[in-house]
Amino acid sequence: MKNKKMTKKIIAAVIAFVIIFSAIGCEAQSASGGGTNGGEATSFTPTVAPNTSAPDVTSAPTEETTAPDITTVPDVTTLTPGTTLTPETTTAPIEDTTVPDEDTTAPDVTTDETTAPNVETTVPDVTTLTPETTLTPETTLTPETTLTPETTTAPTEETTEAPHVHTPETVKGTAATCTKDGLTDGVRCATCKATLTAQTAIEATGHSYTVTKQPNLDPYSADFAADGEKTCGSCGKTVAVKAQAPAIESEEYARLLANRLLYYINLIRVEEGNLPAQMLPNMTALAEYRAVQLSTNFAHDSSDISAAATALKYGQYNYTEITHIDPETWEVIHTGEYREYYAPCCGESIGKHGYNISYYGNDIKYLDKRAYEAAEAYHNSENHWRCIGRGENVFMSIGCFVDVENEWAYSCICTSPSDIYG
Ligand SMILES: [Zn+2]
Ligand SMILES: [Zn+2]
Repeated sequence: MKNKKMTKKIIAAVIAFVIIFSAIGCEAQSASGGGTNGGEATSFTPTVAPNTSAPDVTSAPTEETTAPDITTVPDVTTLTPGTTLTPETTTAPIEDTTVPDEDTTAPDVTTDETTAPNVETTVPDVTTLTPETTLTPETTLTPETTLTPETTTAPTEETTEAPHVHTPETVKGTAATCTKDGLTDGVRCATCKATLTAQTAIEATGHSYTVTKQPNLDPYSADFAADGEKTCGSCGKTVAVKAQAPAIESEEYARLLANRLLYYINLIRVEEGNLPAQMLPNMTALAEYRAVQLSTNFAHDSSDISAAATALKYGQYNYTEITHIDPETWEVIHTGEYREYYAPCCGESIGKHGYNISYYGNDIKYLDKRAYEAAEAYHNSENHWRCIGRGENVFMSIGCFVDVENEWAYSCICTSPSDIYG
């Protein structure tokens, strides 16, 4: 409040000065020919020009009548020291009048300029008023006009003082995918965009595969060893599932090899106009037994064959006295000891195949390749194919044994037109 009063007083004083100055200032301006003062003058002319200059200007036409006004100016010069006192009495009324005039001053200023020539005629008299140039320091009062804005800043300050209240707004997050991280929902201020709740990363979920197509391990199918497929339930990505053969040392591996071998043999049998052969379980057990024997004795050894059949009780059962033949008399020597054995009533073909285990391991494609090559080898061996390729031999059991250490695979193919022994 005190400040306001003070500024009012100052303004009043300024206005008072300005009123006086304008009466002279206009002339001073014109005297300086719109020099450096001209620019500054414009800054305060708005408050200046109007009030008293206006009347002055209107009185301007009567050039000489303005003179008397100027003659009163000397009194003003004498007032400069104590100026602040006299204006105070005049401020009260001026205060009110200046405010409305402010708006109308602008046009008046332009008329000031037009009246400038008229004023010039009074210049000689003004020269005697040079002391008034000491009034130009009033230009330093113009900053005081910036005081009035200060009062206007007060209300604006109040509006900024009101604390800003955030308006929460959801920032939509993104769901994590199989391969990309997501973001949680966040909250920000709709007005100032300040983050109220930061979004945080959601780790990628990773694919969740389920096997939609099993790899093909059926040795009797054309696309044996074909890869399977697994599909991600979330994104639908499809990945191959590699067909994998069992461990090469396992019986399952040997059986897969044997079955695949029969598949290729049957392809040739059918091609040659014969029925495809099929395995018999008991005969297969014999073939497998023989295949293991072959790894240590690769031959059609009758005692091995008999031992195998007897161990498995496969074939024709025999119970006979053990006899010897005297080399000198050729007589049969009866021992009185009896033994029982089995004689398999089937043909036998045997094979020994190089097997590159150290390089291919249990690669199922390699197994397939070797089965095909073994079938071709049997087919190209006339003695073997005579048995294997014979049309009547519709029962055929194959046993394989893989000698992992020495990298050989052995095959024994038992053939029969009858399934009498199973
Ligand atoms: Zn905000
Ligand atoms: Zn996925």
